[in-house]
Amino acid sequence: MITLHEKAAQFIAQTPHLHWWNGKPQAGTTSQTSEVFNPADGSRLTQVALGGAKEVDEAVQSAHRAFGEWSKLSPQERSTLMHRFADLMEEEKEILAQIESLDVGKAITATRGFDIPFGVECIRYFANLSVQTPRDTPLSIANMEARIHRSPYGVCGFIFPWNFPYNLLLWGIIPALAAGNTVVVKPSEVTPLSTLYVAQLAIRAGIPAGVFNVVLGDGPSVGVPLTEHPLVKRMSFTGSGRAGADVARRCGQRIIPCKLELGGKGAAVLFEDTDLEKAVTQLAGAITFNTGQVCCTATRWFVHEKIYEEFSRRIVEVLQKVKIGSSLDEATEMGPLASAAHKERVLGYLDQGIQQGAKVVLDADRKKGSAGYFVSPFLLEGSDENICFREEIFGPTAFMVRFKEENEAITRVNSIPYGLANSVWSQDLVRANRVAEQLAAGNNWINAHNVFAYGLPYGGIHQSGFGGGVNSPETLNDYLLPKTIARPLD
Ligand code: NAD
Repeated sequence: MITLHEKAAQFIAQTPHLHWWNGKPQAGTTSQTSEVFNPADGSRLTQVALGGAKEVDEAVQSAHRAFGEWSKLSPQERSTLMHRFADLMEEEKEILAQIESLDVGKAITATRGFDIPFGVECIRYFANLSVQTPRDTPLSIANMEARIHRSPYGVCGFIFPWNFPYNLLLWGIIPALAAGNTVVVKPSEVTPLSTLYVAQLAIRAGIPAGVFNVVLGDGPSVGVPLTEHPLVKRMSFTGSGRAGADVARRCGQRIIPCKLELGGKGAAVLFEDTDLEKAVTQLAGAITFNTGQVCCTATRWFVHEKIYEEFSRRIVEVLQKVKIGSSLDEATEMGPLASAAHKERVLGYLDQGIQQGAKVVLDADRKKGSAGYFVSPFLLEGSDENICFREEIFGPTAFMVRFKEENEAITRVNSIPYGLANSVWSQDLVRANRVAEQLAAGNNWINAHNVFAYGLPYGGIHQSGFGGGVNSPETLNDYLLPKTIARPLD
């Protein structure tokens, strides 16, 4: 078990953690707080303030005031500040990794190896892209001098879930900031800590007060007034379809753009010529990475009948050996689920799946580390009508089915309303590409699952989202409002 860094311990010990606007912590007007727990043992980590419409208004006013100064900086000036922001995160990477691991329950090797460095890369990617992106595009139209001019929107609102608080925060706000907008963030009430730490780093990096603001609280008290605030010109929501639909409806009433990054139920389609060694390793990794709390991961495994038995035997062997443990133990490969309520939900799905006739291929160890929110990996097999085939569980689990024909697999993969991410596994790349084109998802990967890179657009279709996605040049443009300027020539 690693020793907690003094600065991480001091940060977590502050209680209650406060909202953040005008570049400093703010108590707000309510004295209500909520508790943040350590998923590894169920103990109370700290308390955070709970806001409401009044706090949202203060934070939005702060962002509105800061917009003038921030939007007037040149892209180069903003880029310099953002690189400093990234430098500070690199200097403090161990502290950030520990805070994120303690708050979410993620294995420390994962926050050190993925969450923190990949977040820092996001800042540098958009800082560079913003400098290289022209704000004016001249148009070639007869007898007219015309151009498209792009400028930032103003205050942008962001609502995030609990599974990748640090990464999703940066994927969301960094392109908006690089484009010259200011932001008000509502982190998840379950995992708000890294967002508050990042707010301090923004000020230390020299990003002006009011550019980055945070209001703590739940969806109805903070998410709703943020979405409805008249000074918020754009919303971005990452989370469940249920809450996303509510945010989209409120944005629709105000006619403001809204980006939705929602849930998924990804499929992996394994043809008979799959490289089994690779597929077994990657798909076991897909459901144990972040304890399966990954929106785009592969949780429906379509395995060709000729390799089904061998694949099944081999992946069970691998999953049985996964080292489950506390987030701050360097030997841990998979930590607990993020909350007690979520553990109950995941195990509830297992029970319902079995009641509906699913067969258990690998059972969950429900008692594992029982003070914490641990669930070991489990696998089910059965019919495409089973609840565990059709609904997002968000845990270390997958539902296995056999298939025989290519078209049959495509139809069955596309039989549910989600459209976030799928993968196709075959040595025949012509077939793999043909199938990938026909699967309904924003992201389609070949001989790999969970593929991320800056410059590779990532987003959902159908019930998995709309409005743009993240991580690509289009994302920066999403935060720039296009206007045409035209002068007819006499
Ligand atoms: P959730 O929808 O319950 O909550 C997400 C956020 O929305 C939280 O901050 C919550 O407080 C807030 N919220 C809830 N109701 C709201 C409302 N009516 N108005 C405004 N805000 C509201 O989701 P969750 O349980 O925190 O996260 C898990 C979900 O997130 C899963 O479905 C997962 O697939 C999805 N997710 C999607 C992506 C993606 O990129 N597509 C990434 C991560 C997570």
